[in-house]
Amino acid sequence: MKQTMSIKGLNRREFLWGLSQSVLASLVLGRAFQQVAVAERPPASVLVLGAGLSGLYTALLLEAKGLAVTVLEARDRVGGRVYTLDDIPGKPEAGGQSFSERYQRLLALAELLQVPTEPINSSEQGTLLYVRGQPVLPSDWAVSPANLLAATERNTLPPQLLTSYLSPDNPLPDKTAWARAEYFDLDIPLEQYLSTKGASPEALRLMNFNPASFFNSVEATSALWALRNNQRAKTPAKQFMRIKGGNSRLPEKMAAALKFPVQTHKVVKFIRSSHSRVEVQCADGSRFQADYAVVTLPFSVLRQVKIVPPLPEVQAEAVSELPYTLVTEVHLAVRRPFWEEDGYPPQMWTDTQLQNVLPVRDADGIQGLVCFVNGSSAQQLDAMSKAALAEFVKAELARIRPKSQGNVEVTRVVSWGRDPFARGDYSHFAPGQIRRFRDKMAQPWQRIHFAGEHTAIASPGMESALESAERVTSEVLARIE
Ligand SMILES: Cc1cc2nc3c(=O)[nH]c(=O)nc-3n(C[C@H](O)[C@H](O)[C@H](O)COP(=O)(O)OP(=O)(O)OC[C@H]3O[C@@H](n4cnc5c(N)ncnc54)[C@H](O)[C@@H]3O)c2cc1C
Repeated sequence: MKQTMSIKGLNRREFLWGLSQSVLASLVLGRAFQQVAVAERPPASVLVLGAGLSGLYTALLLEAKGLAVTVLEARDRVGGRVYTLDDIPGKPEAGGQSFSERYQRLLALAELLQVPTEPINSSEQGTLLYVRGQPVLPSDWAVSPANLLAATERNTLPPQLLTSYLSPDNPLPDKTAWARAEYFDLDIPLEQYLSTKGASPEALRLMNFNPASFFNSVEATSALWALRNNQRAKTPAKQFMRIKGGNSRLPEKMAAALKFPVQTHKVVKFIRSSHSRVEVQCADGSRFQADYAVVTLPFSVLRQVKIVPPLPEVQAEAVSELPYTLVTEVHLAVRRPFWEEDGYPPQMWTDTQLQNVLPVRDADGIQGLVCFVNGSSAQQLDAMSKAALAEFVKAELARIRPKSQGNVEVTRVVSWGRDPFARGDYSHFAPGQIRRFRDKMAQPWQRIHFAGEHTAIASPGMESALESAERVTSEVLARIE
């Protein structure tokens, strides 16, 4: 599928200028502006389902073109998978963590809405490895008895193993190539691909422990998907950033710039498209009608929504089968900085069920820790009761870092897998699914259009949500003009 880089003949700068005029004008002049802007015939109406970044940006773009937009959101907040935990010291991000200078849409939007960004300075303290029951500093890894990698792999740190196997022979020439049929031969299990490249069983075991949120396991993920992520990472980011005061401030400002408030607590259950209208029903019995609907719900959630008439076979299969990564975060308050007592860095990469332990920092220093757990380990934590999970995490941390004993308390658990309006973190593709789903999964169906990170081609994470909004806006505008 060709990436849309312009909106109906406008390049991005012109478009954002148009958007800025519209958004700012509507902020300043309010309803009076609307009456001037609306043409003689009533504007086309659109229901945007979901108020994450993709839904909010779609709504802003369509409003800027004079359409009447209603946004329906299941939660009591906007932002979806962008979610700052404002009540925890250090305001950690539960969802989208950071972005870089390569996120051009996000940065333009933040500037337009006057939402300041700030750099994230990486830690100087490094990362402690904890592998096969032993703490190992990165400088000691190559000669550590915990290192059971093959001779050719021994110098590679566990978090870098996957990149070390994907980068040298990555055949994808650019960031959209993965979606082209000529590369579909690589739509095979990642484990198989890595084995043919010589990965040892121990390397495969360790790679399963830190999939960096992009997949759940090397067996159940397409190698082509992993190569896509690796291709993008070939141009390293120069500067990581976040929104000042928390990433949630961006979707909040986007929602505030809309002409009509986002309707929260609207859990969409049913979407019907007739030849002239779309009707949406919510769990509270409310009904909405419009000329078109833009669905931004993750497929992991959309599979609970009834769509009439039913989606075409392959698209329906994509909705019900597209996998989502599981991520569970356990936030910890720390009484005394135990890392100052044992001399190891607070940040850890482990092959235990805690996986990654990361410091939560603000301008005043480390405010707490978070265990960032992916894949099957997240699933195992999710199966525990709240009390059992807290005890397990504290005991596990005390085993790894004895000085943490009696020093940490669980303050919050965020499970994206159990979240009823996300059911996972990132979408990805199982082996064979890129070939089967890629060009069909986001196709408009009758009066229903699709956006959201899972439908983007070229961009990562938060930027992908915005990319998809531009594409779907073009689609809807093409139908009414
Ligand atoms: C833990 C984590 C870490 C991440 N880290 C990064 C990062 O560092 N950098 C980066 O760029 N990206 C990151 N991301 C990814 C990024 O946050 C997402 O790609 C992006 O926010 C997705 O936006 P979206 O609009 O497509 O989906 P969503 O944000 O999921 O929006 C969909 C909306 O639909 C709503 N909804 C769901 N069901 C219903 C229903 N039945 N009825 C009505 N509304 C419904 C949801 O509540 C949600 O608001 C991370 C995500 C997570 C979870």
